[in-house]
Amino acid sequence: MRFNLSQLLKENVGVKRVYSFSETFELIPEVGADIVSGDIIATRMDKGVWVSGKIETNVSLECGRCVELCARQLAFEFSEEYLQTVDMGNNLDLNQQDKLDIEEGKFTLDGDHTLDLTETIRQYAIINIPINPLCRENCAGLCGICGINLNINKCFCVDKGDVRWSPLRNFLGVKEDI
Ligand SMILES: [Zn+2]
Ligand SMILES: [Zn+2]
Repeated sequence: MRFNLSQLLKENVGVKRVYSFSETFELIPEVGADIVSGDIIATRMDKGVWVSGKIETNVSLECGRCVELCARQLAFEFSEEYLQTVDMGNNLDLNQQDKLDIEEGKFTLDGDHTLDLTETIRQYAIINIPINPLCRENCAGLCGICGINLNINKCFCVDKGDVRWSPLRNFLGVKEDI
């Protein structure tokens, strides 16, 4: 996801460019994210560009209850400033503070005026991965005793060990013949 912004950097502050893309590459191999598409708006700022975008990628996540893999789309937005590191004929004056900002790990444009969004999108995608995803809202999960996937099969295990259900059993008058 690289965009050459040479032309935009020659424009005045406030000028915008819109880009759309769809690329296939390994964004986060651990969750299978490998198709990345989106729309971005790059706005010329006095020290670089402000970029905001809407991104979508495919992920394959383990359900938090039944541990089956479930495919879904991950959609998120981002907004970041990318500092210019090389003058573009606009007498860029990299003063001391700007140099410090660049050193402090702020996003920057490459020396050839290229905006590389790969790392930004990777970071935002990781933040947006749901922590405890479910394959479906009413996923029945795994049997705590035999481990069978209760979405697919039924079992006849009686879980006496899970104390979380004791109050419910008592309420329902279920005999706890332990
Ligand atoms: Zn599930
Ligand atoms: Zn069971």
